[in-house]
Amino acid sequence: MVPPVTEGPRQGETLRGQKDYITMGQSGKESRLERKRRGRGVAMGCIRYLSFTRAAWLGFCMTSVLCPAAAEETTGYPWYRRSLVGMEVGPTGAQFGYSDPNDARYCVRFDGREIVRRCVSAHCDYLVIWARDGDYAYYDSALLPKAPGLGARDPLRETVDEAAGHGLPVIAYCVVQQGGHYLREHPEFEMRDPAGNRIGRFCYNSGYLDAMKQIVAEQLACGIAGFHIDMVDQGFGPPYGCWCDHCQKAFEDEYGRAMPSGVTWDEDWDRMLEFRYATSERFEKALYQHIKKLNPQATVDFNYHGNPPFSWEVGQRPVQHAGNADFVTGETGVWGFSALTVGLNAEFYRAATPGLPVQVAIQRGVRMYHDQTTRPLNDIRWELLTLLAHGAFVTMVDKTGFDGWLDPVAYERIGNAFEEAQARRTHWGHEPVAEVGIYFSSRTRDWLGRETPAEYFQSFQGAHKALVYEHVPWGILLDESLTAERLRRFPVVLLPNAAILSDREISLLRAYVDGGGNLILTGFSGMLGWRGESREESALAELAGVHLVRRLASLDNWARFGRHSEGPTSVLSRGVREQWPFLVKGPAVVLEATSAQPIGELLEPFRTTRQQEGREGTDWPMSADSPVGPAILLNKIGKGRVLTFACSPDYATASEHHIVEARRLLVNAVRFLHPNPRVRITAPTTVEAIVTDDPAERTLRIHLLGYNAPPQTTPPKDRPHILPGLIEDAPMYRATIEFAEPIKRATAFHKSTDLQRRGRCLGATIEGIHDVLIVNY
Ligand SMILES: [Zn+2]
Repeated sequence: MVPPVTEGPRQGETLRGQKDYITMGQSGKESRLERKRRGRGVAMGCIRYLSFTRAAWLGFCMTSVLCPAAAEETTGYPWYRRSLVGMEVGPTGAQFGYSDPNDARYCVRFDGREIVRRCVSAHCDYLVIWARDGDYAYYDSALLPKAPGLGARDPLRETVDEAAGHGLPVIAYCVVQQGGHYLREHPEFEMRDPAGNRIGRFCYNSGYLDAMKQIVAEQLACGIAGFHIDMVDQGFGPPYGCWCDHCQKAFEDEYGRAMPSGVTWDEDWDRMLEFRYATSERFEKALYQHIKKLNPQATVDFNYHGNPPFSWEVGQRPVQHAGNADFVTGETGVWGFSALTVGLNAEFYRAATPGLPVQVAIQRGVRMYHDQTTRPLNDIRWELLTLLAHGAFVTMVDKTGFDGWLDPVAYERIGNAFEEAQARRTHWGHEPVAEVGIYFSSRTRDWLGRETPAEYFQSFQGAHKALVYEHVPWGILLDESLTAERLRRFPVVLLPNAAILSDREISLLRAYVDGGGNLILTGFSGMLGWRGESREESALAELAGVHLVRRLASLDNWARFGRHSEGPTSVLSRGVREQWPFLVKGPAVVLEATSAQPIGELLEPFRTTRQQEGREGTDWPMSADSPVGPAILLNKIGKGRVLTFACSPDYATASEHHIVEARRLLVNAVRFLHPNPRVRITAPTTVEAIVTDDPAERTLRIHLLGYNAPPQTTPPKDRPHILPGLIEDAPMYRATIEFAEPIKRATAFHKSTDLQRRGRCLGATIEGIHDVLIVNY
């Protein structure tokens, strides 16, 4: 897990993992879970986990939960390729580190056997059990102090023993980076700042790796199926590391020069960033290989922090650090990522590890981990079913009471939600249908974002927000792993303020457009140098058919469109009043058309006399002054087109000064470039639509998820910044779906959904958090 954004100490957690065929290995019998999973094998390939017919599921339901099954052959699939839902269970009380080692009440009831029984009853496919945090081991360890209330008990072994009878894979949750008793006892492993001060984190070049190798070996000997290894980060903010003697020597050996004196954002800092990334990658790979050497069947996954809102400080790049284990695990949750990014996170993890299953961890607490509250069932269902619809498998994190008490209401609700997930098993995990590829530039994250990466993320996340609100199916493209083939999957590729692009990326983008692709550029895309310096001309000038006159310093920029009856303007400004200046907050540039067609106007904001004198800030938007260039430039090149926004409708959409018209600009551009999508969905903005295809069965699925949070009141601090309310009620709404190709048959999963069909158009009235429309073509 990651620390809260604004408060509280760091803690460690999340997990999921477990071992392959733990029951087969130990009992020689096939478990109920394996039988269920064998119900209908599905080719792995692009499918992220197995689908099963509902009949197989019903057959499984008739089997007693506790009944051992007859021995049969294994599926051949590791647990993480056949799992849908599982739980991570860990105690509450040492998560902030440095807890009282003499408080014998802590974990006195933390009982591995009871945890397994509760998880089995809750329809879990696997269990991640807390084995190590920054303070303690939760098993008999020769290396680490044991949680004080455990006495002679060993919850890890209890869990493994009990799970064997249920065919439940058990994964050990093991923290790498967390302050606590172990770090205090081992200052030789501690990170240093440039002045040599200890900064409360482990250094991965310090010899800590050898200690970790011994720790995982101990846990592996308990019979676990694998590891969920959390907190392989280098911190989530300043002070940054590491300038210890080990790191200084390794840096000098690598680069033949001394480390930079601090965060210098120059060539030396570029080397330092590479050094930090390489350090994390080396540590992950070495730990992975060590575990595989001890037990090739044991699985390993690292909790991932390569996605927004994380940046270079963590020491992870989106692709470089996602693929160093058997599969990636990431987190989501309104507490740290927003409600909207639940689906974004799943797709980001998928893009970072193509072809591998994606595990996403969520929590049962109302606010966050460890808070001892339980969300309403509909709130849990919304997040869980959203992730499943995006093709992830999901771990629900439960943090027990201080003494290890298990909240019965939590397990009841989780069980209800998981039962529903299992019942829809056949509908999860098919290939996504995506119309727009949203481009993420890690280089721009690092060198434009620097120490305020959210400024860059606004554009990326605003693009995502616009597409979700308008029900345009989307996917993620990552600069590190860009290929021609990945680009070609998307009819439209959107570069949200991708300011720093390599020659390789530009060449691939050029070939994509030449071949008939449609490119949308926003903000400063292509307009900064390799380390964020100004460029005289856009690196995309030729492709976009533009000349860069200047970048505007203002964010409160405006757009205006003339008569809508003329040419592309009629589509691009649909929903916007003629001759009406409207705020499109975000980075903007003055461009001249070379080969492109200019459309609309970009207007600078007024600046008061005091602002011009530097005596008044410019954070708050000011009204429109004069036009300085076109708002949009449209270029035809090869068989494709490039549409350049001189402004940032994506940034505007994510900003606090979001207006609907700014969002529409972006989606109008998509529709202009790609007028006949395979599926066109109309639904309320509170509904997220996810489209998948099963080409073998010629079946499209349209998942519809209704987000229905009630209004919140003012918070006790930081007004008006509040978390959304919890979803209590299922919404009722109407959606229409039009198909480009003829359809043969359409049904809804829910009997209560009223589905009407007219030719290639469906109309559905849905009451519920989730429904899926199943359409044969
Ligand atoms: Zn170091």
